Amino acid sequence: MEDSQSKIYDELRAALQFYQALGVEALPVLLQTVPDRPREGSGKAELLAQLREEIGDCKRCKLSEGRKNIVFGEGDGGALLMFIGEGPGREEDIQGRPFVGDAGLLLTKLIEKMSVAEKNLTRADVYIANVVKCRPPMNRDPEEDEIASCRGFIERQIEIIRPEIIVTLGRIALQTLLKRPELRITAARGNFFEYRGIPVMPTFHPAYLLRNPKDKWLTWSDAQKVMERLGGHD
Ligand code: SF4
Repeated sequence: MEDSQSKIYDELRAALQFYQALGVEALPVLLQTVPDRPREGSGKAELLAQLREEIGDCKRCKLSEGRKNIVFGEGDGGALLMFIGEGPGREEDIQGRPFVGDAGLLLTKLIEKMSVAEKNLTRADVYIANVVKCRPPMNRDPEEDEIASCRGFIERQIEIIRPEIIVTLGRIALQTLLKRPELRITAARGNFFEYRGIPVMPTFHPAYLLRNPKDKWLTWSDAQKVMERLGGHD
């Protein structure tokens, strides 16, 4: 049971015990419907599709000049877990899908190794997107003006999906999302931060892990903390 739910039950129990102690045998109750947090099939896919339509053939920044495809993001609109990288690479640009190159394969492996509530995750269970939607030339870091032009889109995606946890992949995604350019990935990873009430776990970008496989266990340890928060196990 989630902490907030168990707190509500405790408070309700205490209130009922209080009235019982006063000798009250029955209480008039006005039942109000408290909607569950919307998940799958609750219109999030439509809202994401509308946002994609709004982005259209975006030319709001210079990254539009060299791109083949806008890489909007993909996955379950009702996902508990959202992964955010910095921007599309060559393969992503060609296919128009996030994390489908070698780094993407590594991310997919990580996701499939994770389990929540005793169920192994797949890519289809999570949502994957980037801070900028178009490929920076030669895979350079996205520049400030490009991030500024594009960040509204990732913010809207997060707003629609409202995941339980966000995992940022690499330095740029971390600094951009939290608007904290002083953060260093080596020091920040493994610690929870917060973005508009949503816990954020920074970890290494899978492209970094391909170059530094010895650090894969650190990312796995970050993923374990995420699973723990989501009520899963490793
Ligand atoms: S990176 Fe974002 S703002 Fe720039 S052209 Fe692509 S979609 Fe538009």
